[in-house]
Amino acid sequence: VDSVTADAIVIHGHMYQPPRADPRTGVVPYEPTAAPYHDWNLRITDECYRPNAFARILDGQGRIVRIVNNFERMSFNLGPTLAHWLDANAPDVAARIVQGDRVGATAIAQPFHHVIIPLADPRDARTEILWGIADFEYRFGRRPLGIWLPETGIDSATLELLADLGIVFTIVAPGQVHALPPVGAIGASHGVRLVVYDGPLSQQIAFGDVMNDTRTFVDHLSGGADGGTVTVATDMETFGHHHCGAERGVAHALFVVAPDRGISVGPLGALVQAATPVDVVDVYTSAWSCAHGLGRWQIDCGCSSDGPDEWNQRWRTPLRLALNLLRDHAVEVFERRGKEVFNDSWLARDAYGIVLADPSRWDDFVIAHVQPLVSESLADVLLRSQQSTLASFTSCAWFFADLARREIAIVMQEANRSAELLRSISEELPIEQALQILDGAHSNDPALPTGRDVWHWALGEAPVAAAGTIDGEDAVQTLIERLVAEAIAGDSAASVQAQAVIDLAVDRTDRVALDRAQNALYAARSDGSRPDLDALAGMLGFAV
Ligand SMILES: [Zn+2]
Repeated sequence: VDSVTADAIVIHGHMYQPPRADPRTGVVPYEPTAAPYHDWNLRITDECYRPNAFARILDGQGRIVRIVNNFERMSFNLGPTLAHWLDANAPDVAARIVQGDRVGATAIAQPFHHVIIPLADPRDARTEILWGIADFEYRFGRRPLGIWLPETGIDSATLELLADLGIVFTIVAPGQVHALPPVGAIGASHGVRLVVYDGPLSQQIAFGDVMNDTRTFVDHLSGGADGGTVTVATDMETFGHHHCGAERGVAHALFVVAPDRGISVGPLGALVQAATPVDVVDVYTSAWSCAHGLGRWQIDCGCSSDGPDEWNQRWRTPLRLALNLLRDHAVEVFERRGKEVFNDSWLARDAYGIVLADPSRWDDFVIAHVQPLVSESLADVLLRSQQSTLASFTSCAWFFADLARREIAIVMQEANRSAELLRSISEELPIEQALQILDGAHSNDPALPTGRDVWHWALGEAPVAAAGTIDGEDAVQTLIERLVAEAIAGDSAASVQAQAVIDLAVDRTDRVALDRAQNALYAARSDGSRPDLDALAGMLGFAV
């Protein structure tokens, strides 16, 4: 090889969705903002997961020449909660993902719930990782070499824990290590190998159009190194959901361009194991999506998404404190009552991942961890309570701009679910004490001013009217209303757009928005002077 390039390029996709199902029923409610789909899981599956599982490679005329499975050549992690949803709702996609790993050994693990591991109680961190490993082994039929840490949240103790649990490597952003390894090299610290991804190029993939020109992309990615492996990492949803058609760029890069150039495309685990690692000294307590250590998941650090500038996130601290309080009490019950049923309560909790992965393993679990001649149902209640408690720390709750959101409602439902389960064995969690802490959590939404209000809303104890405010206005309804208003103001392009949106969403959206749009249009046409609105009126159900 004359030119200086990397020996291998790796594109890693982080696959995960925030929990959307009601913890009591397991059912994902209707999400109007995902229209024309029932919910976001279904929509993202159709826009991203399935297109990547069946990716088109096109010729110069845009005709399909091949359909490939990107999961054979991408590196990826599949969050266990999303994996279970795919099993039930898109089994063709779930099977294709597993098949991709069979061919390429491309998958790495993820902690079971999407929790910030360095902020977790040390026992919870251990359980989360062990449950993630158990789910991986059940799904992919092999031990994981690597693990994706939620938000790449890491500190020294996390690395030591990974090493202790037999994990060989994880992936981090360049700013998370004390000393950057040379481009193409694999880092190491505290007994774990660190794949430091290419920050600028990963940013361009997430927020730009670099995948439109895959030859330039592959040259750019591989050209910075003299041998070794270069990696980009981003949310999987980038490919197809955020950037329509980007899965074709991935397919072209990994199945056509890189092989043409003689560049390997993985698997990452084998590349990491074959490399001679370079000491990076240590890692900062940090994550890829916050510039303030792990501030985003505990304080008002300034990082947030999707809110006005004048909003604040001071609610993050009391939210975590309230959930910590409930967790500590649930753990006290688990340890005390666990003595009645388990050989060793903590070993049992750590091993429960095999049951979460495959409920048919319950009997095996009981034989190994439950004392003879005691109540299996007590064991079941204690473990399910712990599972809900762990789920109540899902990082999505702290990620966004406000407290009055579904993501927070879900973690509150999980904490409450844990309390409900323990009530069935005559144990009480200090809910009122937690609510007093949540009184000090102030949202930016006047409809639900405090954490206590959000808790009651989450549990279905608040007026339904508040729920509309919380979810934000239904995006499609708002869009229809806005476009119709613009059409009435004389904007013919808005009229055409409104017709398209109505055509797409009319059966799925609330009648109220259409009624309001009809009212406005009727008023605008009442003197008969607006023939430009006739077509839109027809769409909205008016007689000609
Ligand atoms: Zn931050």
